[in-house]
Amino acid sequence: MNAYLEKVLNETELKNINESEYLQAVKEVLSTIEPVVDAHQEEYEKIALLERMVEPERIVTFRVPWIDDNGQVQVNRGYRVQFSSLIGPYKGGLRFHPSVNQSIMKFLGFEQIFKNALTGLPIGGAKGGSDFDPKGKSDVEIMHFCQSFMTELYRHIGQDVDVPAGDIGVGAREIGYMFGQYKRIRNAYEGGVLTGKDISYGGSLARKEATGYGLIYFMREMLAAHNKSLEGKTVIISGSGNVAIYACEKVTEMGAKVVAMSDSNGCIYDKNGIDLDLIKQIKEVERGRIKDYLNTYIDAKYIEKTGVDSPIWEIKADIALPCATQNEVTLNSAKVLVENGVLAVGEGANMPCTIEATNYFLEHGVLVAPAKAANAGGVATSAIEMSQNSMRFYYTFEEVEAKLERIMVNIFKSCAAAAAKYRCSGNYVAGANIAAFQKLAKAMRAQGIV
Ligand code: NDP
Repeated sequence: MNAYLEKVLNETELKNINESEYLQAVKEVLSTIEPVVDAHQEEYEKIALLERMVEPERIVTFRVPWIDDNGQVQVNRGYRVQFSSLIGPYKGGLRFHPSVNQSIMKFLGFEQIFKNALTGLPIGGAKGGSDFDPKGKSDVEIMHFCQSFMTELYRHIGQDVDVPAGDIGVGAREIGYMFGQYKRIRNAYEGGVLTGKDISYGGSLARKEATGYGLIYFMREMLAAHNKSLEGKTVIISGSGNVAIYACEKVTEMGAKVVAMSDSNGCIYDKNGIDLDLIKQIKEVERGRIKDYLNTYIDAKYIEKTGVDSPIWEIKADIALPCATQNEVTLNSAKVLVENGVLAVGEGANMPCTIEATNYFLEHGVLVAPAKAANAGGVATSAIEMSQNSMRFYYTFEEVEAKLERIMVNIFKSCAAAAAKYRCSGNYVAGANIAAFQKLAKAMRAQGIV
């Protein structure tokens, strides 16, 4: 590795020794941008370009006290990592999940800078959330938590400052409660302060569908570049949340058959093709478990997750779409997928494949659609929501979807072009990192030492 890259990587490791997810994300980017850094090493080193890129502009952590239904006071920890405002206001989702910690927030914030740069839209990078577990909580408890969370967060955000959205555990319901509290505290209707809002008060049509749909548009482009298509392919999708559901919808519309989906407890396999309306009913309406699918389809199979590796990756398929969480595809799972003849992997979740798994796929000729590029449709549509809020105007569903499709096609083209230019054609992981890095490096040089 280039000496400057190695120095920055070593220093980052020393400074963030306990932050494995964050270090993984930094390592993945730094190990792929070598040809660009080689060409500008002296200049970048002099202005500490990489050192500044890997250091968040600001991290806020705060206490979130709330009262549960039994009158017991609970305390969670809240975070907002404002990683980079280079190309626009900080922008990135909020995650409510018990696993949330500073390392996960920083990895997600770091990835977000690159992803947002790829969209071509004026948005910086951020991420936030809490170790609060929404599972099993009543609606009133969710509201109390969201209100308390926003009572601190409000002072750090604003429609021209930092615009959060949803992520794991944060959907339209949570965004609604947080927006209500923000509006109440600020005594102003700043519609663009949060995205992922309900359509009734400033949300964008097609935002809910955008990440999953965008992933499939990217997959379509990537496969087409290799003379392949989605038509007739068998697909497995991990997760059954926002990204997984709408990826399933679009890929089915494009002629593929989804045979398996999952949640954190296990996966279902339905050889006849997943009934997505039923999944939506279980997950979006009843907030139930994926196992409930078998109450209707008694012939489907349920496989419980017992170890580290998710059982879904053992199901034979042409295309695998990890849409649940980070590091859900390990080297072991990658080996099984390759053995079963997988053609392409599309990352709907953020960093769902370990570095070893990604490398294994690439070494074995499997096409990989990297998260930064392939799941950027969500944040791109959030930016479209912000622009509608500023204009005080709405686009139709078709208008937003057409913009989303164009953005995803362009993202694919920039990844492919960067990969080709730097002699790694077909490696869209490197292509995405290089294309985003070049844009960020240019903006960083232009803005002086800040
Ligand atoms: P949701 O909360 O809607 O769904 C998450 C799904 O993943 C659920 O099925 C959940 O199962 C499963 N899951 C969560 N954590 C784990 C875990 N530790 N192990 C196994 N399964 C798990 O989240 P989203 O669909 O919004 O997000 C999914 C992924 O996509 C995340 O990586 C997120 O960062 C990424 N993403 C989301 C975007 C968006 O617009 N929403 C945009 C870009 C990326 P269970 O219900 O059992 O917890």
